[in-house]
Amino acid sequence: MRKAALGANRREQDIRLIAVSKTHGPEAVREAIAAGQTIFGENRVQEAAGKFPSVKAENPDLELHLIGPLQTNKVRDAVALFDVIHTLDRDSLAEALAKEFTKTGRRPKLFVQVNTGEEPQKAGVAPQDTPAFLDRCRAHWNLPIDGLMCIPPVDEEPAMHFALLLKMAREAGLHELSMGMSSDFETAISLGATCVRVGSAIFGERPRLEEHAPSS
Ligand SMILES: *Cc1c(COP(=O)(O)O)cnc(C)c1O
Repeated sequence: MRKAALGANRREQDIRLIAVSKTHGPEAVREAIAAGQTIFGENRVQEAAGKFPSVKAENPDLELHLIGPLQTNKVRDAVALFDVIHTLDRDSLAEALAKEFTKTGRRPKLFVQVNTGEEPQKAGVAPQDTPAFLDRCRAHWNLPIDGLMCIPPVDEEPAMHFALLLKMAREAGLHELSMGMSSDFETAISLGATCVRVGSAIFGERPRLEEHAPSS
């Protein structure tokens, strides 16, 4: 990350590392904390709810990010547990989050997920629908949006997706960009990423099964 930041003429401290601990147990998380890591990402609410409350209680500075799809029936648990939600991608979810924010007074930071590759099976707002969605989030639901997030198609050059997300964020006046994973975080940093989401490069390979399991 330091090398990539230097190469892109960016300040190291402007890029945060989210350690993606999905499928790994609390002992792996504690090991990463002992090594100085404070920001973690999980893609399933239920898995995180089983793993993090005790770790969080021991480490008040820990920051937990939801990077996987969020169903509206899990909004309450997600708002209670996560500090940042990267996957806001539809009106029904914006509405449910707004209600839960009002009810609890807790307001996790929000990223809007953009489906930059316009893949039918992938979550995220289509690029052409994103400006209007951002307007609705701000004006209609009073939800401040911090940035944009994307997961490029596996079989395409990620750089063009990162460049598109950067351009969209600039046009929308957003400063945070959640992009880049183990295989492409350097490219993401060179194109303006402010958070990279790195799992296997930190914790090792995950069991393959996980890639196909239904998400929550
Ligand atoms: C699993 C996951 C990551 C981390 O992927 P690695 O290739 O293991 O670094 C990043 N972002 C999202 C949304 C994920 O689900």
